[in-house]
Amino acid sequence: METPFASGPAELFARIDNAAIDNAASAASEGVLFAKLDQAINWARKNSIWPMSFGLACCAIEMMSMSASRFDIARFGAEVFRGSPRQSDLMIIAGRVSNKMAPVIRHLYQQMPEPKWAISMGACATSTGVFNNYALVPVNQVIPIDVYVPGCPPRPEQLIHALMLLQRKIQAESGTTKNVLNL
Ligand code: SF4
Repeated sequence: METPFASGPAELFARIDNAAIDNAASAASEGVLFAKLDQAINWARKNSIWPMSFGLACCAIEMMSMSASRFDIARFGAEVFRGSPRQSDLMIIAGRVSNKMAPVIRHLYQQMPEPKWAISMGACATSTGVFNNYALVPVNQVIPIDVYVPGCPPRPEQLIHALMLLQRKIQAESGTTKNVLNL
């Protein structure tokens, strides 16, 4: 792997998102029954996403707004913000990721049970944004990201759109049943 832009311990920048390759291999041997079961499980999963209560900077205010009455993320079944990573399946990176916070974010992500997803919210999380300096690191060097949301800050509607894209991704996943049954 190339040397990352930001400096820090090597293990911090080692990729941990090779699960997609395993997923693709298991999907190749899917039968009709498993494919239908996959669709049912994926449907249940995509409509019951539990985000973690976790904010890093100003973007988190827009994230909170998304869960409040004006935008009401309950319409998408994702309003149950959990206080523990062990009860969450979505991490929304809402704000800039500093070198100091990066190991904490990875630790929390690893404490989340499978299946789990992550949204990078805002320019700072995705590319360090206007704070392009030695103290920050793009979040995809720390954890695998499923959906990126542009903007500074993104509006709550944009985050809802990201959630809808994530739902589409979850619905399209294959090999779900085999993964659940450890086959
Ligand atoms: S993208 Fe903008 S609003 Fe979001 S954390 Fe960075 S500076 Fe704050």
